[in-house]
Amino acid sequence: MTVPKEIICLGCPNGCHMTCEQHADGSVTVTGHQCERGEDYASEELLDPKRVVTAVVALDDGPIPFAPVKTDKPIPVTKIHSLLKTLYRARATPPIRCGDMLIRDFSGTGVNVTFTRTIPADTTKNNNPGSG
Ligand code: SF4
Repeated sequence: MTVPKEIICLGCPNGCHMTCEQHADGSVTVTGHQCERGEDYASEELLDPKRVVTAVVALDDGPIPFAPVKTDKPIPVTKIHSLLKTLYRARATPPIRCGDMLIRDFSGTGVNVTFTRTIPADTTKNNNPGSG
């Protein structure tokens, strides 16, 4: 049996304080929950925790230096480090629309990364070398 883990359910405003233990046969015992959602939440949090990740990506030729991005669903915690390394190396070029996809199915997780802000092309830069 593992050391019991205290988990606060985020399933609703009740915020039930639960205790979760994994047994030698792999089964999980949850106490302190008031509904099935809490039991599911606690089991997943113990066995396969996931988080939504937000970050920024560097822009080339943008009116601002970075664009905000977010996973479209929670990603396994074990994959977050490699996702952030990928995002810190990534670059994008406006125009970008909120919801545009930056990464599809990151590392086979089924999780996509999308932009969360519309960013127009930078019209203040003169890209015509013959006009100036
Ligand atoms: S266990 Fe159920 S009642 Fe308690 S916080 Fe989670 S969702 Fe709400």
